[in-house]
Formats: sequence, structure tokens, C-alpha cells
Amino acid sequence: MPELPEVETVRRGLQPVMEGDRITRVEARRADLRFPFQADFTKRLDGQIITGLGRRAKYLLVDLASGDVLVMHLGMSGSFRVVGAPKTPGSFHYPRSEERAHDHVVFHMAGGPVILFNDPRRFGFMKIVARAAMDREPLLKGLGPEPLGNEFDAAMLAAACAGKKTSLKAALLDQRVVAGLGNIYVCEALHRSHLSPRRSASTLADRKQAPTDHAKRLVNSIRAVLNDAIKAGGSSLRDHRQTNGELGYFQKSFRVYDREAQKCPTPKCKGRIKRIVQGTRSTFFCPVCQK
Ligand SMILES: [Zn+2]
Repeated sequence: MPELPEVETVRRGLQPVMEGDRITRVEARRADLRFPFQADFTKRLDGQIITGLGRRAKYLLVDLASGDVLVMHLGMSGSFRVVGAPKTPGSFHYPRSEERAHDHVVFHMAGGPVILFNDPRRFGFMKIVARAAMDREPLLKGLGPEPLGNEFDAAMLAAACAGKKTSLKAALLDQRVVAGLGNIYVCEALHRSHLSPRRSASTLADRKQAPTDHAKRLVNSIRAVLNDAIKAGGSSLRDHRQTNGELGYFQKSFRVYDREAQKCPTPKCKGRIKRIVQGTRSTFFCPVCQK
């Protein structure tokens, strides 16, 4: 499933072909993806100038001159292809379909490019929301801070975790604590900060709810792992062999995720990566250097 860095990479790939251009026509080739398209879906997009392309958690936000926002989610298998432009947005480590039968939404841009949304499993979706109603939008309401934004820091994370009896892993996957983090990057960030995924989330705060050193280390690790992944996505953008559905480039840089029984990459650590199940998800970590 695409995670935050993949979505950000897609955003950066689409931005140059969408922002500032006008949508001449949109084709919705089915009645639904994960949800039915709104009855006026194409009507609210046709002829609109795109004023900005943003992201909130794993949602792409296409701002239109009309004051509407097209909210797009890639789901499990959604991806974009751009025809008639030099760049194609990156696909990262999840396989990407190019089967035309799965091209469900097509944007014809006035500047020439055609942008295709392909989604074999159809867990992705698109919804138009008025900008003025975004605060009340159920999809976005209650999301925690962006992990790469200024609002997210050790004090904020400690306050959100203070008194929580859940594991640190579960707390970081909670979208109300921090938005857009998924299983892969939580495992990777915990390894980088040498914190055990089984540790209680409450240990990020002291008795006065102030951040402990653990919280500071973890915030730095979360930012670093996301930034590294976005950087790696940026390089796969320039490599067209990587964007044609092959497993991506950046997977090679995982330290623990999907590396069960391999040697821990921490210098001088003699541990081996272990896989456990927390909730219903696999956790990968080093029981020796993650405490
Ligand atoms: Zn280790």
C-alpha cells in the first residue's frame, strides 16, 4: 500500500503537469471506485483551472479555481500515469499496473498531457469537497499533525502519548496522534531511534507530560526516514525503468521492514531482525538494540 512518502512523490510528479493548467475534460469510466463518484463529479472538474496540488496525510488535494477541492486517495493499488509529458510520477515499492482496463479516471489537460488514474483493486477514491467545508470533511477531520510539518514535535508527540497504555507501535499508527504514518515507516523510525515497538507509548512523556529523550529521538527519526524515502522516490522519478511497475529502488534501503532473520544494520549490533505480530500487522525490529 502506498505510504506517505510515495504519495508525496506522486504529488511532486503530478505538480508540474497539473498546477496552473486547465482541465479540459475528465472521464470517469466507471460509476465507482471504493465509493460511487458524485453525480456531478465530472461537471465540477471540466474546464477548471488547477490552482494548487497539495497533500494532507495520504490524501492528494487538487485545488480548483471554483473553490472546490478534488480529494484523491490511492488506496491499495492506485497509481497515476502521465502521457504526453516528459515525467511520470514515481511508483516506489508497490507494483504498478499499466493495464488499460484499470484506467478508471482520465484527466485531459489543456496544456496537452493526459493523466490516467489506474487502480486494479479499486480501493482508491476521488471526492470533491468545497474548500470552505474542508474543516468539516469526515475524511480529514480528527487527523493528527503532519509528521513533516512544523506542528509535529517532541512536546506534541509526548502530550498525545502521555498516559496511553498501548504499545508505541500502535500509538504511532493512530492517525489522531500523527497523520499518514503506516506500518513500514513506523518500523523503520523505531529502529533508527533504538526504541522497541513493544515499549509503552506513555514512556514518551515524563510525569509532567513533558517529552522524554525518547520522544525527541523518535521525532527526529520519523522525519529522517520520511525525508530519505521521499529523496529515494525523487531519484526513481528520474529512472523510467523504476516507474514501470517494477519493485522500486527505495525498498533496498529498508533497515528492518521485511528483513526477518537478517543481521541488524546498526553498527556493532549482533542482533537479528525479528518479526512479531502487533494488532494484526507484522512488526520488524531488532530485539538487541531496540529497547
Ligand atoms: Zn540491532
